[in-house]
This record gives sequence, C-alpha cells and structure tokens, in this order.
Amino acid sequence: MSELDLITETPSSTPKVNLLGLTREQLEQFFVEIGEKKFRSQQIMKWVHHFGVDNFDDMQNVGKGLKEKLKARAEIVAPTVTHFKESTDGTRKWVVQLDAKNSVETVFIPDGKRGTLCVSSQVGCALDCSFCSTGKQGFQRDLTVAEIIAQVWIAHRSFGTPEHKGARHITNVVMMGMGEPLLNFENVVNAMHLMRDDLGYGIAKKRLTLSTSGVVPQMYELYDRIDVALAVSLHAPNDELRNELVPINKKYPLKELMKACHAYVDKATDSRRVTIEYVLLEGVNDNFEQAYELIELLKTLPCKINLIPFNPFPHNPYKKPNGMRVRAFQEVLQKAGFVSPIRTTRGDDIDAACGQLVGQVQDKTRRSERWQAKINPQVVEVRPAKG
Ligand code: SAH
Ligand code: SF4
Repeated sequence: MSELDLITETPSSTPKVNLLGLTREQLEQFFVEIGEKKFRSQQIMKWVHHFGVDNFDDMQNVGKGLKEKLKARAEIVAPTVTHFKESTDGTRKWVVQLDAKNSVETVFIPDGKRGTLCVSSQVGCALDCSFCSTGKQGFQRDLTVAEIIAQVWIAHRSFGTPEHKGARHITNVVMMGMGEPLLNFENVVNAMHLMRDDLGYGIAKKRLTLSTSGVVPQMYELYDRIDVALAVSLHAPNDELRNELVPINKKYPLKELMKACHAYVDKATDSRRVTIEYVLLEGVNDNFEQAYELIELLKTLPCKINLIPFNPFPHNPYKKPNGMRVRAFQEVLQKAGFVSPIRTTRGDDIDAACGQLVGQVQDKTRRSERWQAKINPQVVEVRPAKG
C-alpha cells in the first residue's frame, strides 16, 4: 500500500498517514480530503522538512483545531538511528533501522562548500555485482518514500534546524547508497521530487544524482518523470567482462546501455553529461588496453568518468590497485580528452564506503543467526548469505 492509499480510508479503520513520505501534490490532496485549504500543506512542509519537526504541537503557526485534526489522521515518523559515527574528516554516517530485520545506511561527505548526502533506496540489492558488499547481502525489500526521504530529514536535522536561510549543509544528494534506485522507481522518483522541492530540501537538478547499474527501460522513463543528473555504473569496457562484474549486463548489454545514455543526454534541453562510474579492480579492469577500449566506447557520449579505486571488504577476491596504476589509467583517459577524476574514499575510519557498516552489522547478525540455528534449528530462520 502506498502512502497515499492510506489517506482515503476513514481515520478509525486505518493507520495514520505518515506526512514525511508525501510529495507536495499528495499533501495538498490530503488537506483537501480532510476539509482544509491546500495552502496549509506549505506550512506543514516547512515544519517537517525545513525545521525537522515531528510533533504537531511544535508547529507554532498552526491553529489548535488543525493540530488536533492532524493528530487524529496523521503522523510524522522517521525510522530509528541505531548507529551514528562522525569521522575526523567530517564525514557522518547513520545506520537507520527500518524494521526489526532491516537497516540501511546514509553517509554525509563534506567537501569545502559542498556537502553530499549518499542515500539508500533498497535494503540489499538483487543485482549482485561481484565487487559490491550490498549485492552480497541479497535483496530484502524496497524502501518507502518516507524511508528514503527520512534519510535526508535525519541528516538535515543533525546540523540543527536552520533559523535563517543560507545555513545549508546538504547541497548535493546522490542516490548511491544501498540498492538499485531504478528498481524502486516510483518511490525513488517521489522522494527525489521532495528533495528538489523548495519546501522540501531545495536540491538543484544538477546536484541531485541518480546512479544506476544500467536498468535500461527505467533509464528512458526517468527523464520524463523528473529532471536529475544521471550516473551510470559501467566498470567494464566490453560485454564479456561486464557480464561478470555487473550481471544485469546480460539482460541489458552495453549496446543498449549506451543507447539509453545517449537518449538521456539528447532529451535534456541543457548541455548535459552522464557521469560514468568505473570502480578500478587490480588486474581485472585496470590495464591500458581496457582504458583504450573504454575511450572507444565512450568517445561520442558527453560524459565524465569517475575513477573509484575498489573499496575492499571481507570475503571478496578483488584488490584495490595502487596509486600509480590508478594514475596511469587516468592519464590515458585524460590524454584522450576525458574529465576523469579519481574519487578517493572518505571517512575511512568509520567505514563510510558503500554498504560497509551495515555489511558488518548484518554479517554479525547472520553469524549469530547461523549459530542460533545450530543450537536450536527449529526456531530460527536462516537467510542465505549470498556470495
Ligand atoms: N545500484 C546503483 C547505486 C548504488 S551503488 C549503482 O550500482 O549504480 C553506488 C556506486 O558504488 C556504484 O557505482 C557502485 O558500483 C559503487 N561500488 C559498489 N561497491 C563498491 C566497492 N566495493 N568499492 C567501490 N565502489 C563500489
Ligand atoms: Fe546493486 Fe549497485 Fe551494488 Fe550492483 S553496485 S549490487 S547494482 S547496489
């Protein structure tokens, strides 16, 4: 059931609707349905998203009558933060518990005036890329709109509620946390509308990036639904290697993926580039020949190539290439005219890289479940650990 479905039923028979997960249009509809003026939604959105309020009594300019009505029909509920760490370099990381079995992680990375929040869209991921710790956890479930936007809400609140405009910490959002955002399409699109909305988080279209491993049909649909920046996780310059590293390539091979990238750039009315993500795995995809193959593949696509040295995690065969190898690969691309920055991992001391902390927490949970199952096999359900 979606957040909106909850609105239409009577208050006594349904759970309260969580206002955190409603877009501006949906909130307006909610107000009309409870017999209030649409513009009330603007007041409430500011309280919820700008000021991080989760209690109707704290909404100072809302009348007593409306507060009571809202309390009867609605709530503002974010998932619980079970772990919070701040790195010496200012990186912040939250593990957010969605329900008894499922957690995701959110990371904030400051960089000068820019503050980037990395948001999760699914618990685990079904696509099982061979170098990704989230993929190794398997797929558990999609996040709701409220659960996606709550990550921004939690991070925003952690800086204290801004009394004045201008005190903005989160300037960029990347859908690069756990999960494949295009496989949770509707919820991710709605959550991104809230991120972009001035009454939400006011993130500019070029500063809101969706990263996909190449779910081609939804790549075509994305631009028609919301105008955001697109990143594509490529990681290999040919189908043979990409089939191995990013198994969804077997379904949507490079020819189709490249066509979808071109279509996205062509549709946009501004001068736009696709960001190509390329995780460098020592001896696997980081030699000169592969760099030249990559140049050939991307030569007609307006793009920049982010080079990401592999972030190691336990029980994984890959290695991070040394700095010299990474720079040599970069140089080949740069000589061919590509903008290709090396993305170094931030917040190493708090395991801020993709999927790491939840990975560790779940690994421990699974080990404990397996142990429990050994000593009491009838009671405990064991989820198979992939990879
Ligand atoms: N599912 C989407 C978004 C989440 S993954 C996607 O694949 O694009 C976000 C980025 O982190 C992707 O580019 C992914 O390839 C990269 N990534 C995953 N595991 C990594 C690792 N161990 N080291 C470095 N980057 C990794
Ligand atoms: Fe899923 Fe992205 Fe990880 Fe691949 S890299 S398993 S698509 S989260």
